[in-house]
Amino acid sequence: MADQYDIIIIGGGVIGCMIARYLSRYQLKILLIDKESDVGSTTSAANSALVHPGYDPVPGSLKAKMNVRANPMWDELANELGFDFAPSGDYVVAISKEELPKLDQLMQQGRKNGVPGMRLISGEEMRLREPLINPQVSGAIFAETGGICDQFGVVLGAAENAVQNGVTILLNTTFTGFIFENKRIVGIQTNQGEHRCRWVINAAGLFADEVMHLAGIRPEFKITPRRGEYFILDRAEMVIQSVYFPVPTEISKGILVANTTHGNPLLGPNAQEIHDKEDRSNSSEGLQEVLDGAKKLIPSLNPRTIIATFAGLRAGGNAACETPGVSYGHDFIIEIPHAVKGLVNLGGIESPGLTCAPAIALYVMELMKEAGEILEEKKNWNPIRPPRPRFRYLDNNQRQALIQKDEKYGRIVCRCENITEGEIVAEIHSPIPARTYDAIKRRTWLGTGRCQGGFDMPRVTAILARELGIDPLQVSKKGAGSEFLSRPTKMVGVQDA
Ligand SMILES: Cc1cc2nc3c(=O)[nH]c(=O)nc-3n(C[C@H](O)[C@H](O)[C@H](O)COP(=O)(O)OP(=O)(O)OC[C@H]3O[C@@H](n4cnc5c(N)ncnc54)[C@H](O)[C@@H]3O)c2cc1C
Repeated sequence: MADQYDIIIIGGGVIGCMIARYLSRYQLKILLIDKESDVGSTTSAANSALVHPGYDPVPGSLKAKMNVRANPMWDELANELGFDFAPSGDYVVAISKEELPKLDQLMQQGRKNGVPGMRLISGEEMRLREPLINPQVSGAIFAETGGICDQFGVVLGAAENAVQNGVTILLNTTFTGFIFENKRIVGIQTNQGEHRCRWVINAAGLFADEVMHLAGIRPEFKITPRRGEYFILDRAEMVIQSVYFPVPTEISKGILVANTTHGNPLLGPNAQEIHDKEDRSNSSEGLQEVLDGAKKLIPSLNPRTIIATFAGLRAGGNAACETPGVSYGHDFIIEIPHAVKGLVNLGGIESPGLTCAPAIALYVMELMKEAGEILEEKKNWNPIRPPRPRFRYLDNNQRQALIQKDEKYGRIVCRCENITEGEIVAEIHSPIPARTYDAIKRRTWLGTGRCQGGFDMPRVTAILARELGIDPLQVSKKGAGSEFLSRPTKMVGVQDA
């Protein structure tokens, strides 16, 4: 007999986890499933990590409404969920006089969307604020409500807080189909068995189109991934003060240069339509495009300071903006469709989906209430996710006290980022246990420095094997099929003989 839930959420990216977190406030039995071995390991992990002010989306679109509603929520959210967030502001930079009219258009769009705190500054002021900016800068928009966040911490914070408040999360669990009774969804099938429920929430990111098609709705809706590639630079080599966008193009906000919450400068992304929803590879042409684009803003960028590359996939769909008189623009889908009962359907949650996540969660709750769901508050809901110690941010007295409590905090495993064995072990035994190298990396920032894990990887493998009680051969980078080791070294001669 399948277990019975009130709500099942398909997808543990930032959208699914944030919805789970906000819904965990109510007396509901909630299950969240994800096909990967960790939450937030696909698009929600590979993006620019910016909290957008809301001047980019087409006025009247759901994207614009969600963005402007979400932006002021971030300060409180960061405090409650214990992730890094810096309200640094952001800039749109015009290079040459020809680009100046675009700034006026963007200012008007921002005003229409209701974005507070935007103003035009001169080229001279921009040069003073960012000494590394292209000297040809002719003017800029400064938007004081822009910000940067640790996107891994956001998803993990939301997911852990949901678990703390009673939500069940099943990883390595792939949704394969719906169970219907008449035209009502009453459950889901997965590769791990069936689960019954009253509601399903489709938060499957790049695969949301396939999920809604299995529910029999929006057959015309198709997600075409748009890949964005990035460089990360060594923070010891260059300090970027804020977030700098070029003037936007028709299809993207353009290649930006930004500071990150960890201090490493970030360059990217470009925008290439591709067909494979799993293809997060980099291409030499794409990376060259990123470097050229970034140099337009900061000409002194030195490729020798690059320490890592990565790529993320935007889940762009073909749902048109339904704003009267607007012909361009794809919008988010967030709806309770009439054709089938028991489904909250989300799709096309591309940028600024990370920013919008808390507002999308509230909107989903409002839609459910309108559809007749009675949401009764729990008496003991706790919005605070307790933070775990982060050795590198502690002073010497705090470090000493921590080491006295647990000597594992006295053993540095990642030398570039100062991450201790104590922190790694804490993540392995946390509410959503880190079971792979990448899961530990996302949670602690280990392996992201100049050596890119060259020193820590063997030690992390040994710690994972010890703590999880598994063979080191089973320890993987990101789940089955990505194991680091193939056999004990001493067997090489035996097998090859
Ligand atoms: C290059 C790039 C830059 C961006 N920059 C920004 C930015 O700076 N600011 C901003 O606000 N937004 C940004 N975004 C957008 C933002 O990253 C996304 O909108 C957001 O991460 C989408 O979250 P999600 O939960 O919908 O999707 P995902 O993170 O993809 O989560 C969906 C989850 O569903 C799971 N899933 C899929 N199918 C199944 C199935 N059949 N069974 C079980 N699980 C399944 C997946 O494994 C995945 O974990 C950017 C995106 C990209 C790609």
